[in-house]
Parts: sequence; structure tokens; C-alpha cells
Amino acid sequence: MSKRFILSIDQGTSSSRAFVYDDGMNTVGTAQEEFPQIYPKSGWVEHDPEAIWASVRHVVGLALADAGVTAADILAIGITNQRETTVLWDRTTGEPVMNAIVWQDRRTAKYCAELKAAGHEATVTEKTGLKIDPYFSGTKLKWILDNVDGARARAEAGELAFGTIDTYLVWKLSGGAAHVTDATNASRTLLFNIHEQAWDDDLLRLFGIPAAMLPEVLDSAAEFGTTKVDFLAADTVIAGIAGDQQAALIGQAGFEPGMTKSTYGTGLFAIANTGAEALVSRNQLLTTVAYRVAGEVTYGLEGSVFIAGSAMQWLRDELGLIESAPESEAVAARTGVVDDVYVVPAFAGLGAPYWDPDARGAILGLSRGSDRGTIVTATLQSVAFQTHDLLVAMRDDGLVPDVIRVDGGMVANDWFLQFLADVLDTPVERPVNAESTVLGAALLAAWQSGLVSSTEEIARRWQSDRVFEPAMGAGVRTQLLAGWSDAVSRVRGAR
Ligand code: ADP
Repeated sequence: MSKRFILSIDQGTSSSRAFVYDDGMNTVGTAQEEFPQIYPKSGWVEHDPEAIWASVRHVVGLALADAGVTAADILAIGITNQRETTVLWDRTTGEPVMNAIVWQDRRTAKYCAELKAAGHEATVTEKTGLKIDPYFSGTKLKWILDNVDGARARAEAGELAFGTIDTYLVWKLSGGAAHVTDATNASRTLLFNIHEQAWDDDLLRLFGIPAAMLPEVLDSAAEFGTTKVDFLAADTVIAGIAGDQQAALIGQAGFEPGMTKSTYGTGLFAIANTGAEALVSRNQLLTTVAYRVAGEVTYGLEGSVFIAGSAMQWLRDELGLIESAPESEAVAARTGVVDDVYVVPAFAGLGAPYWDPDARGAILGLSRGSDRGTIVTATLQSVAFQTHDLLVAMRDDGLVPDVIRVDGGMVANDWFLQFLADVLDTPVERPVNAESTVLGAALLAAWQSGLVSSTEEIARRWQSDRVFEPAMGAGVRTQLLAGWSDAVSRVRGAR
């Protein structure tokens, strides 16, 4: 066999995945493995970078075996990753200075509140397109420098490297030779000026971050480095990188301004393509780099909601109400739409469009007849309501998608997608290949390697599986949304 396969690595929040694609971008091998979540305190979430690396090594081997190819058959590698999660390591030994601080971690909430109170948010937003929130990497990076013994001095001496997970993986894959990231990941750090496409000196000063720690920022399709590890052939090129949500937009072929995708994994993330314009939201949405190819930046407007599929895991693991996430579909179908009980899954505060790190979850409207079916269905419904809030914000910002393309683990749930279309009053379209994220990274690598040559070609290959058309009466919808809005208002700033 000649080198004609693309290996795509999706390093996600709860699991690592590897997919192998042939030169027609057909999936020929897959593997997935969960790795441990570490919760040192309430609101803190960490990952062991070594455990992440071990899981990546493992799934790559399994995916190659599943595809029946060898490492020598791989033409290029794509990487997509959980975004914002922050790792610092020693440039000489490769040893992480502590666990990675995960995007969901809220430990810097107080510092963020202080920055806001000191009036810094307008400048930060103007430069980065983001909010001042613990979600993004910048304050996590500062926390490590301030709290790990000797870290700041070592960083200032140039001994430490900072990276999001993509950067860490390329560094490991290249045997420590490449310290790089792509523009989409850089745009989530709170340190990157999205208009100038460069690390921002003012922001580095504000957060007290030594510039020497930062990776070089490349296009999303670029030569990031070449492999020097025992489980891949020598000098295989890492040719595509994008943060998971941006990769999903690419996998969904969302290349035209106005096209919108919504991904339902651990969290829920909607991105609308806004073309060459870095549209500024009036409604607390984020302006972000959707992708950067051949030096040209395409921007997106993003709504980030922290809890979606993970609410199903909560029903399963903490409440024991379902055996598995997919079971939620049968339970909801039996129960039918719930219009009196609301679950607000603000377990880690509320993201867009509320940005309230102090909100916490609640179940409202319980009566003696409320049962397991009520809670499970209301939890599923909450994911649709949260999407609705994002769409309202997008509409008010002038983006009115005529269809929403959806992907991620939750979209296997037909009941959920029908309810989503009903609540949004907008058609919801599921592709044949709902693995948009890992596909997006593969497409970037294929692009860089010349296997695909245009966005039109990718768009032509994208295939719809099913469109869910809105069918709910306006009266019912209005009533449900009023109940939701009341429930959200009750959990805000709850502590
Ligand atoms: P991530 O990439 O963030 O790890 P995935 O896209 O793999 O997430 O999606 C997994 C999430 O989807 C889990 O949180 C799981 O609870 C949820 N999920 C999976 N299948 C279903 C289903 N049929 N109905 C509802 N939720 C589901």
C-alpha cells in the first residue's frame, strides 16, 4: 500500500479518539478510549497530561489495526482537541509542572471578577473576541505560574512551555522539536489578538505571562511538525490542527457566511460562520477564529454552553435514573414533552449568553407526580432550551440561519432533535457522518497534503441523513420558553 491514509486524532474532554480515512475521506478505522477526570475540589477539573498522551498512543495503534493499515501507510496527521485546557511542561525533561487545568475548571472565577471590576473586559473583548471568564486558558496559565512553586521563575528563564492540548500533542509527537499551535486554538487563550493574528503584548502584561512560553501560531492547515515516536513512521507530517468546535464546523462544511452548526458532546457549542468579518456580538456571544487557511482568516460567532451531554452522564452516574445516555431517548418518548418541570443544568455556572460563573443548577416545578421520566425528559429539554437562548442571541446579532447542522454524541437521539427543531422553530439537519470534529481535522490535513483542493469539494461530499422539521404549535413553544426563562432567572448568581 502507498501512503494514502489520513490519521486524525480527536483528543476530547472525556475520551481520546483516532480515525483513519482513505484518500476518498471514507472512514476505514476508528478507536476510542476514555481517560480519568480529576476533581480535586468543587469547581476544579484536571487531566493528567501523561494519561492523555497514553490514551492517544493507545487509540492510534488500535485505529491503525482496525483499518488494517500500518503506520507507514499514513500520509499525514490531523489533530483536533478539547480547547482552552492548559498544560505547562519543562522544555528539557518534558515533565508537566502539574496536571492540565481543564476548560470546565472555575478556580479563577474570583480573579476574573476582579479583572472585570477593574474595567478590563472591554479591552480584552476588543482584542480577543472573548469574555473575561475562567473558561479560557489565560487565567488558568496565570494560576499555575502563581501557585506552583518556582513555576514563574522557571517560565521567565525560558524553561517552561505553555500549550493547549494540540500543542502538547505535537510537542510529544515531534519528540520535543515543535512548539506550535493553530490560529483557532490560539484564539481561545485570552492572549491572542484575533485581528492582528498575534500574541498581544498588552494582554501578556495584564496577565503576567512571559512571551517565551508561548507556541508559534500557524494556519490550521500547515506543516506543524513531523513525528519522532516509536508508534508512528518517522517524519510523518502533522498537517492539520483545529480546536474541536472549529473542526466540527469544517467537518460540517460550514464554509459560507451564515452557515451554523451546533455540536452536542460534553457541552454544547454553536458556531455561525461570519466570513472575513470579525463580527462583534451585542449579546455576549464570542468572536472566534473559525479557521485560517493560506493566511486567510474566517471568523465565527460562537455560543458556548458548558453542560449538554454531560447532563446525561449526571442522570446516569450521580442520579442513577438511566442506565446509559441513549436510554434517555426511550424515556423521553414514553414521557412526552414536560411543561411544568425545568432542570437548569448550571453545574459549572452558565455560559453564553449569560456568563454567570456563580449560577448553580436547579430542578424547579416539582410536584408529587414528578417521576424519573419527568426529570430525564426535562434534562434533555434543557439542552434544547439552552440552544434556543444562543439562537436568539445570534438572530439579534443579525445571523438568521435557515437550518442548523448538528453533530456530536447526543444527535443519535431522534427525540431530542425533534424537540430541538420544535423549540428553535428552525429545521435541524443531521449529517450521515455525525463525527464532524474528527473529520474536520482530517480534512485540514488532507487539504495541506493535496488530497482535497477546495471547500467546494468538501461541501459537495457532505451528506444529509435527516432533517427534523419544526412541528410544535406556537402556543406550546411560547409557554415552554417562558417557563425556561423563569427557571434560568431563578438560578442566576445563586451564591
Ligand atoms: P465529547 O467529544 O465531548 O467527549 P461526544 O460527542 O462523544 O462528546 O458525546 C458524548 C456525550 O453525548 C456524552 O455526554 C453522552 O452523555 C451524550 N450522549 C451519547 N449518546 C446519547 C443519546 N443517545 N442521547 C443523549 N445523549 C447522548
